[in-house]
Amino acid sequence: MKIRNLNELNITGKKVLIRCDLNVPIKDGIIQSDARILASLPTIKYALQKKAKVIIMSHLGRPKEGIYEKKYSLLPIFEYFKKIFHYTKIYFCHDYSNINEINSGEILILENVRFNLGELKNNKKLSKKYSELCDIFVMDAFGSSHRKQASTYGVGKFSNIACAGFLLISEITNLKKILKNPKRPMVAIVGGAKVSTKFNILNKLVNIADFVIVGGGIANTFLAIDYNIGKSLYEPEYISEAKKLLKKNNNLLIPIDSRVGRNFSCSEKDIVKIPSDINKNEEIMDFGDKTIKKFVNVIKKSNTIIWNGPVGVFEFPNFRKGTESIAKAIANNPGFSIAGGGDTLSVIDMFCIKNKISYISTGGGAFLEFIEGKKLPAIQMLEENLKINI
Ligand code: AMP
Repeated sequence: MKIRNLNELNITGKKVLIRCDLNVPIKDGIIQSDARILASLPTIKYALQKKAKVIIMSHLGRPKEGIYEKKYSLLPIFEYFKKIFHYTKIYFCHDYSNINEINSGEILILENVRFNLGELKNNKKLSKKYSELCDIFVMDAFGSSHRKQASTYGVGKFSNIACAGFLLISEITNLKKILKNPKRPMVAIVGGAKVSTKFNILNKLVNIADFVIVGGGIANTFLAIDYNIGKSLYEPEYISEAKKLLKKNNNLLIPIDSRVGRNFSCSEKDIVKIPSDINKNEEIMDFGDKTIKKFVNVIKKSNTIIWNGPVGVFEFPNFRKGTESIAKAIANNPGFSIAGGGDTLSVIDMFCIKNKISYISTGGGAFLEFIEGKKLPAIQMLEENLKINI
């Protein structure tokens, strides 16, 4: 099904409400990574250039809905935008019920949508109120497109015209590229803390990739099928599912050795062990050297790579080697690579490999759900809006 692209519309002089994903890490009022802001700029710049009246909204963090809390305010992002868009007038609005008119070519940034009661539950009244702010609604927040909320879904249902921004289009195009006729062999690397959050994607990936490498806390649950893995993080309730998945799919690869420590601490020393040697006071925190060698070889031989999640506790220097080796192997592969997810982006920054990954998705949950083949609510809304308006 089709969705409308922003560049198909005449937006000059129109009130254009853009739902961006400006959910960036902020510490003491200072933006720690501007990756998501930068990814949102092409759509905003285009709308300004076309002399639209540009209204921007986004969520930031997880405030208690309906309650203002300074640390979740979009004000630091407004300050950042003031520097980028110094050539035009830019305003900030705390109060959605008292919004001033702006002129063509100007910007208005709205406060965190999650301060509004009804945002998370896709409240109809709130969705309608958002839609009344604009002539055209532009959905560009790919990272939130798997959420059926008032600012990502409901607003589009009440808008006469809803379309996709350039970031959303680029995410969809690149993710489809990997799912449709990928150059083989294809390897997927799935890391992270808990298997429960990635079980669906693993189930899907074993069918579409030639190899699926599992790392991090996720791999621990697979190791716990046959071994006593001491204090390691794992989810016992998933062992029987993990066992079935592993038995059915011989392309699912799990570690053959691990780096273990006695304490979950930044200064902990690493010891390499095979699973059967792990003591009850030890916990797995990274790949061992034989595993690294084996998996780096698989990556080297692949032509298409999907990557989500660190394969160890990369925050601790002694348990970073697995994630670093995997990240660098992906970066050095000349094939098509795609990476997504919050911690994956931090790893990419840590090892300065941003320019060596073919496509970096801004989505975490949305990235995974798209690859799983789920219909994302925001995309469904855009498809339906196009149908109503032809
Ligand atoms: P996720 O948000 O699920 O992608 O998980 C990322 C987090 O998983 C990172 O903070 C890692 O430190 C953590 N992680 C990776 N491997 C392990 C492990 N073996 N034990 C505990 N935490 C881990």
